[in-house]
Amino acid sequence: MKRSYRIKELSMGQVFKLVNSEKFKKFGPRHCSECGCTDGFRRRVFWVEGAPTEDPEFEEYQNLMRYHMKRQHGFDWVFFRVDGGNRYVETAFCPECSSNKIVFDLNLLPDERAALFSLDGTRKSE
Ligand SMILES: [Zn+2]
Repeated sequence: MKRSYRIKELSMGQVFKLVNSEKFKKFGPRHCSECGCTDGFRRRVFWVEGAPTEDPEFEEYQNLMRYHMKRQHGFDWVFFRVDGGNRYVETAFCPECSSNKIVFDLNLLPDERAALFSLDGTRKSE
C-alpha cells in the first residue's frame, strides 16, 4: 500500500523541550565521527505524520525518510524516534566541524547503565 507522509520541522523551542523530555534524553548525540567532538551539537527534529510503527512498512518508511532527508536537506545520518503515538526523525550537527555524521547512543547515568547492562552479560564491562 502506498503511504503518504506529512513532515514538519519542530521549532528550536519545541526541539529543546522534546530532547529534554524523560523519554528523549536517554538517547542522543554522543560524538562526532569526523572530529570526535562530544558536546554542543545542534539538533534538528522533524515530526512525521502517517508513519507506520511495525515492519515491514517501518523498514520501508525508514529507507524513504533517509532518502528524502538526504535529497531535501543533505543530511547524511538520521535517527528514528518514537514518543507515544508520535514519530520523529532527528539529526545533529557538530559545532566544531559542522559534520552531520554524529553518533547517537544511550545517554545514561553510570548506575542506570550498570542496571541496564547487568541484564545483558555481554556488555556488562562497559
Ligand atoms: Zn566534528
